[in-house]
Amino acid sequence: MNEQNSNVMILIVEDEMAIAEGLIDICELNGYKVKHVIDGETALIEALSGKYGLVLLDLMLPGLDGFTVCDRIREKDKDLPIIILSAKNSDNDIIDGLKYGADDYIAKPFSVPMLLARIEAVLRRSRHSLEGDGKLIAGNLRIHFREYMGTRGNEELVFTRKEIEILEYLWNNRDHAVPRAELLKKVWGYENAESVDTRTVDIHITKLRKKIEDDPSHPKLLVTFRGEGYQFRASPE
Ligand code: CA
Repeated sequence: MNEQNSNVMILIVEDEMAIAEGLIDICELNGYKVKHVIDGETALIEALSGKYGLVLLDLMLPGLDGFTVCDRIREKDKDLPIIILSAKNSDNDIIDGLKYGADDYIAKPFSVPMLLARIEAVLRRSRHSLEGDGKLIAGNLRIHFREYMGTRGNEELVFTRKEIEILEYLWNNRDHAVPRAELLKKVWGYENAESVDTRTVDIHITKLRKKIEDDPSHPKLLVTFRGEGYQFRASPE
């Protein structure tokens, strides 16, 4: 079992139970965490929650079809790895899947080693495409961005993908104030961040403080900047 996989949560979107069960087994046996949903609407909500490192997406689904789900994910999240899994395997379907922003396309029936190899390849590319040296060290806090993990003193920390993206952005701009609108644009991909509820940012920051701050109600690392934004303070006052 690959140890690194254990921090990656895969969203499996598949309405045929027999296939879904097979996928769940394959993923879990290889160390991935898994969540399974059966329809397009739920898939979209889950996919945009920031919890997942990869989506395995069937095309023929009740409600929204896989192409639409893929397209809507890409409107909000440019980087979430998506592999389409489908019995539709004409060239046009494959071209459509890639056009809608999927990272790869696997035709059913597929072999287990091939599926795993494709998952690993897509995850590897996704890890490499993220910026920075992949590490945050401040005081007793150590975070490995690529592994979604860290430690605060002796305590082990596990992060969601969205939390890591926020931390990595603030870390790369450390000791500078980052307005909420900038985070919404850079981390969430909203072009018109002014029209988006900024509490989304605050909720994530609150969760992050509970993980990384010694005293979350008196943050020393993730500080609020004049009510407008946040700053990662690398050098203590
Ligand atoms: Ca289906």
